[in-house]
Amino acid sequence: MLPPSCFIRNPSPTFLPWEWKSPGSRGGCSRGTTSSVLLSSPSQRPVRCALLGAGFAGLSVAWHLLQHSSKELRVCIDIYDEVGIGGGASGVSGGLLHPYSPKAAKLLWRGAECWKESLNLLSIAEAAWHSRESTSETQEFDQELNGFIVRRGGILRPAMDIKNLNVLNDNAQNCLASCRIEPIDKDTAQSLVPKLCVPFNTAFYMPKAVNIHSQRYLQALFLACENLVKELSTSGFGGTKLCLHKKSVNKLLELQGEYDAVIICLGAKADMLPELSGRLPLRTCRGVIAHLQLPDNIGEDYSDHSPSILSDAWLAIQGPRSLYMGSTWEWKSRNYLPNVSAEEATKALQELLPKASAIYPGIKDWTFAGARAGLRAMPPLTPHGSLPLLGCINDLVGGNHTCKYWLFGGLGSRGLLYHGLLGKLIAQAVLLGNEDLIPSELTSWRRKSNS
Ligand SMILES: Cc1cc2nc3c(=O)[nH]c(=O)nc-3n(C[C@H](O)[C@H](O)[C@H](O)COP(=O)(O)OP(=O)(O)OC[C@H]3O[C@@H](n4cnc5c(N)ncnc54)[C@H](O)[C@@H]3O)c2cc1C
Repeated sequence: MLPPSCFIRNPSPTFLPWEWKSPGSRGGCSRGTTSSVLLSSPSQRPVRCALLGAGFAGLSVAWHLLQHSSKELRVCIDIYDEVGIGGGASGVSGGLLHPYSPKAAKLLWRGAECWKESLNLLSIAEAAWHSRESTSETQEFDQELNGFIVRRGGILRPAMDIKNLNVLNDNAQNCLASCRIEPIDKDTAQSLVPKLCVPFNTAFYMPKAVNIHSQRYLQALFLACENLVKELSTSGFGGTKLCLHKKSVNKLLELQGEYDAVIICLGAKADMLPELSGRLPLRTCRGVIAHLQLPDNIGEDYSDHSPSILSDAWLAIQGPRSLYMGSTWEWKSRNYLPNVSAEEATKALQELLPKASAIYPGIKDWTFAGARAGLRAMPPLTPHGSLPLLGCINDLVGGNHTCKYWLFGGLGSRGLLYHGLLGKLIAQAVLLGNEDLIPSELTSWRRKSNS
């Protein structure tokens, strides 16, 4: 059994905020099912949500659930994460964010909206972080997490072969105004990153693309959620609550009877829940990232204004003397541990360094300072590209539940781009008990799993 959670419990069990109109639906949520929402009034109990996982997916959903709270619809959210905030792939992510497919620089599915929503969440997190009161506790925390949340230095991608050059050129013509792709020549590219290799005399510069510090961003987003709860309580929306439990959920059955909605944001570990094991069309892929530093005896550092670099290996700049280099792709791995053995780190360096030095030979001066890894949950390819998996999954979970189970998973290697918009969509669907609010491209995987 789970520990007593922090929300107010309703003594009357008869009120169910998401009672479905169709009585024969067994609590399933197939498309087209009409649902009614009995909004909670101040005298009635809030809507109880369990959010499993505190990564990009979980915290985006938490923020959007809270944002949709009102006097009539108050939410109590328990977040469960066995490690804590950023305990999975999100916490180790390279943090590169732009709305294009990395290989083709092609705009991804709903790229403009996804880009806008992600930038919005980044700003919310930054604002929360900067508005904190300075106490000895926050000062200590600041020292631990010293540095940026969002680095706005842009991202540069040199063309590495003719095919790549043509594709990138084509896509630069059709880029978003809010995230331009500018073809630049070798001299301009080298004015941004001295000594950069630009084999075909053209590089593609995305001045508005960013890289984030994932761990700091997630901490800041959680803080923004906490602030919102405080704001809601002081504006008379009492009853809205948010609690983070550092606890593993081993099966969905453990949560039975506790919640109106359970939203599964467990990344690659969603498949490890017994109820979902082998039932999600996800492949896993472990990635190792190396942390490199420039030794003190090397005078010429990486300019604070220079962009991060994207190529067969990427360099996510953390500061003039610190960068992350990534990433490896070990398909079918089940190893989700962030720790990297000496042997695994050596193998990763052997793979990544030649790729990185093909574009940035200066990387040879940098020294290894550590490595970390995460397990990606890779979704299947659809006519719209590889899209995350969303939807109500009561059919998969089985049983006759009054609680609705929802999945937000399969963010693959684009968690940052997708987490904002999709977190918003699933929060709306959960609160209104209406899966039709989620575009069918994202829920169609479930019909295939059922057939
Ligand atoms: C090496 C690497 C580099 C990457 N670089 C980028 C990048 O530059 N840009 C980008 O957009 N994306 C990148 N990604 C992809 C991105 O990290 C993922 O898409 C994203 O983190 C997935 O987020 P999530 O919230 O779905 O899952 P996770 O971040 O994995 O979150 C799941 C959470 O659930 C918790 N959990 C798991 N099981 C349980 C349980 N049983 N009970 C309780 N809690 C549990 C975990 O502790 C974890 O905190 C990268 C991924 C890797 C591995």
